[in-house]
Amino acid sequence: MHESTYGFQRLKTRSSLVRTRGEGTKDIGEERIATFGRRLLAMKRDPSASGKRILHLKNPMVRITPPQAGWIPVVLDSPHSGTRFPDDFNAIASTEALRAGVDAFVDQLFPGPAHGAIMIAAEFPRAYIDPNRPLDDLDPAIIASTWPAPLTPSNKSGVGAGLIWTQCMDGTPIYSRPLPGAVIKARIEQYWRPYRTTLTGALDDAHARAGAVWHINCHSMPSIWPAGVAGEGLPVEADFLLGDRDGTTCAPEMTALVKEVLTGYGYRVAVNDRFKGVDIVRNEGRPTERRHSLQIEVVRSRYMDEPRWQPADGFDAVQAALGEVVRALGEYAGRTA
Ligand SMILES: [Zn+2]
Repeated sequence: MHESTYGFQRLKTRSSLVRTRGEGTKDIGEERIATFGRRLLAMKRDPSASGKRILHLKNPMVRITPPQAGWIPVVLDSPHSGTRFPDDFNAIASTEALRAGVDAFVDQLFPGPAHGAIMIAAEFPRAYIDPNRPLDDLDPAIIASTWPAPLTPSNKSGVGAGLIWTQCMDGTPIYSRPLPGAVIKARIEQYWRPYRTTLTGALDDAHARAGAVWHINCHSMPSIWPAGVAGEGLPVEADFLLGDRDGTTCAPEMTALVKEVLTGYGYRVAVNDRFKGVDIVRNEGRPTERRHSLQIEVVRSRYMDEPRWQPADGFDAVQAALGEVVRALGEYAGRTA
């Protein structure tokens, strides 16, 4: 159903992956990820440790790319670029419709590791479960059974794009029937929570080493404003949208520095314009504790051919500008940490 020609990969179910590794599902959880975080820390301090060996230990649905150059206290995460569709997705929507929700190639577009930053990226698609939504942002209509916690679905759930997506960006339904509560719970424990815990672990690690951490939450967005957003259907005038939730998730110097670098490359940069940052930056950004989180949205037409779903001419230029963002943040960190 999900042909590789579209860039998607078939994926064994979680349980078969776990069996291959000779482990029980109970081993894949917060504790295991925390253990991995400690090993990652050890790796960074021991240059003889091979990245390959460390990567083998990770949760297969959360990819960690360690720094390939001198380490800096900058962490990047890409929660929406995953394209490995789990076999138990059971989506009835077409691959073309589903892929429109993917922040395509973003994990490659932001060249963090080449400049000394860690990159955390989801391998699974956000439509399966969205790591950038809070657990209570769930449409009750998608749950076939009772749900043990109160729900507060946002306007994103209202357009099918909450924690569990119910419709594609073109409005086509993703499922033929509601999902059992146990299915949703399994997605939370096996995908959502490992992603979030891994990211928090990387931020804790950088903060412990440098006394501060600068985090970029990496995204891309359609070049027309999507459903449920003011200006729906109109073109996005900027090239990049920065979101710090109105100055609450990072120091203003971080937002200003990123804006200055991108503007220097000739791009148009908007700040806190509609896409202000969602659950990850809201949870991780605590500037008073010297934990700075900034969301960056790249408008897709600037780096990819959206209908054909492939990188376009602008890709290298955007990648170079974002590389300079990471480098400049590392330099800034060196001056202020
Ligand atoms: Zn995104």
